[in-house]
Amino acid sequence: RERDTICAIATPSGPGGIGIVRISGQEALTILKTIFRPKARVKSFESHRMYYGKIIDPVGDNEVLDECMAVYMKAPRSYTREDVVELQSHSGYAVLKRILDLVNRQGARLALPGEFTKRAFLNGRIDLSQAEALMELIEAQTEDERRLAIRGLLGSGRDELEGIRDALLFVLSHLEVAMDFPDEDVEIVDEVALKERLTSEVRKPLEDLLARFEKGRVFREGARVVFAGRPNVGKSSIFNAILGMGRVIVSPVPGTTRDTIEESVDIEGLRVVLVDTAGIREKPSRGMDEGARKGETGARVEDIEALGIELSLKELERANLILVVLDLSHELFPEDIDIFSHLPKGTPFIVIFNKIDLVPSVKERVEEFDGILREKSSMYKMKEAVISVSSKEGTGLDALKGTIFKTIVGKDALDVLRQHTFIPNQRQKECLKKALAAVQAAIKGLSERRPMEIVAMDVREAICAIDEITGRGVQGDLLDRIFSTFCLGK
Ligand code: GDP
Repeated sequence: RERDTICAIATPSGPGGIGIVRISGQEALTILKTIFRPKARVKSFESHRMYYGKIIDPVGDNEVLDECMAVYMKAPRSYTREDVVELQSHSGYAVLKRILDLVNRQGARLALPGEFTKRAFLNGRIDLSQAEALMELIEAQTEDERRLAIRGLLGSGRDELEGIRDALLFVLSHLEVAMDFPDEDVEIVDEVALKERLTSEVRKPLEDLLARFEKGRVFREGARVVFAGRPNVGKSSIFNAILGMGRVIVSPVPGTTRDTIEESVDIEGLRVVLVDTAGIREKPSRGMDEGARKGETGARVEDIEALGIELSLKELERANLILVVLDLSHELFPEDIDIFSHLPKGTPFIVIFNKIDLVPSVKERVEEFDGILREKSSMYKMKEAVISVSSKEGTGLDALKGTIFKTIVGKDALDVLRQHTFIPNQRQKECLKKALAAVQAAIKGLSERRPMEIVAMDVREAICAIDEITGRGVQGDLLDRIFSTFCLGK
């Protein structure tokens, strides 16, 4: 299967200027010669050169399928390191499908998702972490996501991991020498030196990488920002105002449930999912609906509704940041104060005083609210910030956006992003954790003067875990699993 010539449509579906069918494998050039008629006579196709011509179906009376630009990339100077042909036609479903069928009939099988990239990996053009970065790059929707991905693709993690691996190999080779001469009287292995090396050149860098994962994960995964507040304080208005200020990210997964509405927006390069509890206000019809609704958010929804607060407990639990909205143009309601007791401990929240356009003296009013809330709610004091806004007039919204970003990201994470270093993804983190556990065991083994064989086993385990990140020696299932998450044609 791995030697088949493969083909796929490499561009997204739908009408467009250009659509590309990509072919990779030994038969690529032969197929090109059979189905492509260049305008000018061509003796032999040169590598990396564009040719203009027509795609014809040699079986169906040489029917012309489309005009086309064709390029042949001779192995190994191609994406997969195999012979690759790319046919650029017009992008339309019927056109591309006909060309793909034609290529398929000429002997190229349809590629599996990620199969081109898998070949690039198997043929040594990129390592596994770069292949993952590539997928992240394709899927990146914000500037920060793109930045992390391109760093990974350019191999910024590789040097770091190689350094760790080299240190492990050094230690392993010394342990093996000791194992080969078990009867020597002289001390062959300087255990203290090996321990020192494992600590400073393996354990410490591994710990740094793991810390970076934690700090950087918000840039990979984005953040959920959830609104809370009683009806009519202006949650939806603020939600819409923030959406209006940023670039809305179209998510392939619709995030609207009966209880919530969510939209993704790009705030200063960070993917932020705003969640409004708007759905709750539409009272469900009696009967089944009620039961289903209860099941979704838990029995306490009813209690919350009795309080007249719009929030979904499930959403609050998932939030990275909560925005508590209060209406400055009214007196504080008991429900306004109750909200704070429903906030999950440890989740940061910002208090927003809305509708300042209706308040003659904002400062005094804010002080009054602040005094009452301080007195009545112990949780209120845990807020990250207080911001006064008018969603109607747009006042204070820039400050709100900036505060949302700063609160979510924190200085640590921002530094990590700016340092241009590699930040591991979830899978890589698991490998790093395995490596760390193994190296800790090895250090302990050396301290306790355990048999060299045992220590060597731990060191080998650490090496394997590191290799799993770059994909060295990785085969079968794991590879299939990783590449199957890629999109078709990549
Ligand atoms: P929600 O129920 O908390 O989502 O509140 P809405 O966003 O639906 O707003 C309730 C009402 O308050 C609507 O009539 C809004 O037009 C109004 N409103 C929201 N924000 C402001 C504001 O900043 N100033 C004024 N004057 N009215 C606002």
